Amino acid sequence: MTLPLWFDPSLCLIGGKWLPAQNGRTLSLINPSNNTALADIAHGQSGDIDTAVGAAQAALDGAWGAMTAVERGRILTRLGQLVLTRVDDLAQIEAADVGKPLTQARADAVALARYCEFYGGAADKVMGETIPYLDGYTVYTLREPHGVTGHIVPWNYPMQIIGRSVGAALAMGNACVLKPAEEACLTALAFAHLAQEAGLPDGALNVVPGLGAEAGAALSSHPGVQHISFTGSVSTGALVQTAAARNVVPVTLELGGKSPQLVFDDADLDAALPFLVNAGIQNAGQTCSASSRILVQRGVYDAVKSRMAAAYADLTVGPATEDLRVGPLISARQKEIVEGFLAKGSDLAIAAQGRMVDGAPSDGAYVLPTLFADVPPDHVLARAEIFGPVQVMIPFDTEDEAIRIANGTDYGLVASIWTRDGARQMRLAKKLRSGQVFINNYGAGGGVELPFGGIGKSGHGREKGFEALYGFSTLKTVAAYHG
Ligand code: NAD
Repeated sequence: MTLPLWFDPSLCLIGGKWLPAQNGRTLSLINPSNNTALADIAHGQSGDIDTAVGAAQAALDGAWGAMTAVERGRILTRLGQLVLTRVDDLAQIEAADVGKPLTQARADAVALARYCEFYGGAADKVMGETIPYLDGYTVYTLREPHGVTGHIVPWNYPMQIIGRSVGAALAMGNACVLKPAEEACLTALAFAHLAQEAGLPDGALNVVPGLGAEAGAALSSHPGVQHISFTGSVSTGALVQTAAARNVVPVTLELGGKSPQLVFDDADLDAALPFLVNAGIQNAGQTCSASSRILVQRGVYDAVKSRMAAAYADLTVGPATEDLRVGPLISARQKEIVEGFLAKGSDLAIAAQGRMVDGAPSDGAYVLPTLFADVPPDHVLARAEIFGPVQVMIPFDTEDEAIRIANGTDYGLVASIWTRDGARQMRLAKKLRSGQVFINNYGAGGGVELPFGGIGKSGHGREKGFEALYGFSTLKTVAAYHG
């Protein structure tokens, strides 16, 4: 398949110029639907990161730093419009690079445009406050950019994660250095080309593809970086935070989860069913906010199990271009990780599995969606983030037991409550240890306007919504004595 690439993917964007990596080397991207080479990307390393951080600082000292919030907002809004004109191209590129079915890839491109629109509109609406103080004083606060911000992005939702972190950082006037994932970075490069077309000054956004342990580590430890936004695994997040701590730099960590949906006997099962299944298998389960645990009260447990099993039997898996419900995983390595977890579930009952579409390439990174039933809450499959299309069903009797199980993992990213009982909705929303709680719905990945982030090993800091603008800025208090 020929990709609609209108740019050279083998270059880094640094200071407004498209350059090869300083070492002249490239890395290969693989299409996980058929295990074929897709494109070569720059193999950026510490020297490229260093130049990019310098270019970002120069932008802050130059044209970008001199822009008003209104002007920044206009550029972001224009960028959102340009993204919208390229939705089909971006979706095709992402489908090939990530293995994401076309409809889901298209939704990501539209979300990227929404982030640009949202943060474009918000850029000039971040205000300080005046503070009553001693007689003879006027005190006010100013929200200012951190300076150079580092953005380390994973492969599962490149467009959405770039939109929410780079979009908010640019709105506040930071200059960004973006390190996309080595497994999937074509839409990051496409976005950077569109940002140039939208009039973003040179150096305000720099993109350096490369390996995590090289370019990623160089970015997170660079003394010229004043804030780091990281999305990915817990172990890498801890490394990034440790590196940033040496420079005493704030970090936003978004590290995934084991998010539960709690279904009570009085729930509207017709409304719940699509969310119960889709939140687990969207993007083949490679979603930080995937709902991988389905907790069901015993009165409806068998009904939910048989309805979910029927939905699973309808799930077909195949190449991203066929636009089925489930595509391949990102890589052969991720397939191995998920198959390792499935093997650990050999003592459990499989309630249902999806099926491969006829004619799917035999060397794609495919795993059948799998629903396990009657899973003990302390089983490894009920506790570990699998990052594949795997859900576990756990029965419960009482509300207290449901809360204990729901809060019983190291994570706390998203949870949902399915019940018609209004008092229970309010009670549980308070008791759940989670960055987001949905009532009678579930939002896996969506919600440009909604602050998002975790507690516990799901990370800390908030992105999305207006809240992200506070995270990507620092507060200055000005106390003027005038007598
Ligand atoms: P990862 O955390 O290693 O990679 C995420 C990003 O961090 C990539 O851009 C990578 O290049 C970069 N990185 C890697 N090592 C780095 C380092 N030492 N310093 C700085 N940056 C570094 O994740 P992975 O290896 O791609 O996937 C492994 C597991 O992580 C998955 O199985 C899944 O459980 C989890 N994961 C979670 C998310 C999420 O959205 N929460 C996303 C991707 C992966």
